[in-house]
Order: sequence, then C-alpha cells, then structure tokens
Amino acid sequence: MQPIYDYHMHTPLCGHAVGWPDEYAQAALDAGLEEIGFSDHAPFVHMVDPGVTMGMSQLPDYYAMIEKTQQRFKNDLRIKMALEADFIPGYEDKTQAIIDDYDYDYIIGSVHFIKDWGFDDPDQRERWDQEDVNQVYSDYYELLRRSAKSGLFDIIGHCDLVKKFGHRATIDLTGEIKQTAQVFKETGVAIEINTAGWRKPCEEQYPAENCLKIYAATGIPLTFGSDAHTPEDVGADFKQAYALAKSAGFTEYVSFSKRNIDRVIRL
Ligand code: ZN
Ligand code: FE
Ligand code: FE
Ligand code: ZN
Repeated sequence: MQPIYDYHMHTPLCGHAVGWPDEYAQAALDAGLEEIGFSDHAPFVHMVDPGVTMGMSQLPDYYAMIEKTQQRFKNDLRIKMALEADFIPGYEDKTQAIIDDYDYDYIIGSVHFIKDWGFDDPDQRERWDQEDVNQVYSDYYELLRRSAKSGLFDIIGHCDLVKKFGHRATIDLTGEIKQTAQVFKETGVAIEINTAGWRKPCEEQYPAENCLKIYAATGIPLTFGSDAHTPEDVGADFKQAYALAKSAGFTEYVSFSKRNIDRVIRL
C-alpha cells in the first residue's frame, strides 16, 4: 500500500522547480495517486528573492495555472490549491493578507529561517560552521511552536528540516519534541511526512521516526508530501512513508478542503 495523496509540490514560479502543473498531475496519475495539492512557495514577506519564492505579482498567474490543471484533470484527479508559506515572526499580518487573497484548501507553514539565516539554503550552508548546533535546534523548535500558535497554518511542513545537511544535536531533544507535539495538539495543526529528506544529505524523511512516534501518540493529524520540485518526484518513496507512518503508530491520515480536514483515510 501507499498513501494516495501527495500534498506538497512546487511549480516553476518559485524559481527553483521544473515542470508545469500538468506534468506533475500526469506523474501523480502514473503513480496511482487520487489526490494532490500544489503548495508552491508563497511570496516572501520580509524580502524579495525570485530564486526562492514567487513574487506578489505572480499570485494571479499561480491561481490561473493551477485552476487550468484542475479543469484538465477533473475526471481523474482531485487537485487542491495550497501554498507553502514561511513563518517569519513580525510579519504575521503580511502573511495573513497573502493567505486571505484566495480560498485555499490548506496552507503549509514552514520554518526555513532562524532570524535572517536561511539555514536550509545551500548558499548559506557555511554559516553552520559558526553556529552552536544544539542552540540552532532549540531555536528551531521554538519557531515551530510559534508558527503553530500563529494560527496562520493548517499543516506544519517538514518539521525537523534543521537536520537537512546532516547536523545533529548532541543533546536529548525528547522534551523539546513533546512540548512541540503538545502545542500542535492545542492549536489543531497537522504535520506531514515529507519524503524530500531522503533525497538530501540527512538521508531521512522529515520528521525522524522518534518525532513521528510522539506526534502519533499525541494524536496529531497526518498528511503526506513529496516536496517535489520536479514531476519525477511526485509520490516519491511513498511506500516507505506509509510503512513508517504505520510503524510509528498512526492509524489514519487526512485530506483538506477549504482550510478544514474533510476526510480521514485509514492507513
Ligand atoms: Zn522549494
Ligand atoms: Fe520548505
Ligand atoms: Fe516545499
Ligand atoms: Zn518545503
């Protein structure tokens, strides 16, 4: 078995993905998926970088492009309209305005920045050498909790992305993760098993199995995402992700419509 939904994929509008939405949709059909969601990088609220996110003026192009693909595939595939938006403290109002501009099915909230440092950006990788890795991890978890508490998001994206380049904390993070799970529970956000980690130096899905066990035990809703930046990656490693979800203790995953969980699917 494998999950039949892939809720995390990108488009060329973000400046670092290839393939048009029709190609992602076709790849999803070929992979046996029944539902997908486009969650391209929402415009940055704190700066402009055409190589990382679409610009504000491109949002209408995004809607039009995805709506066309929804139309073309309407008999074969359910296609959700979503965004992956950064959590940048101090810019919540600007983020809210972007989210309110369209009737989205869900919003993935992602922490890619600690203050001004894009810690998962290959161009800023050297900065890791100057940082205290344990401190980076606790700063990251604090931001994850704040992102959930912001109320802006439905799904918290790749919720241990901080390990991307293979830097590992030497302290026990169990307390940090449990505290985070509690906040996720109270704020009602879902998490995702994001398979992109298997294609990165950390060589492991996001989040790690020990995190998944805690989130499952806490009753956090689950989604699946490939974080595809190319059509070939749609549904990547979903068989392993399915097995992992089950062994971590999840019994179901969810789908979203208009910012609410509308279906629960048994694993
Ligand atoms: Zn990206
Ligand atoms: Fe991301
Ligand atoms: Fe992504
Ligand atoms: Zn992502």
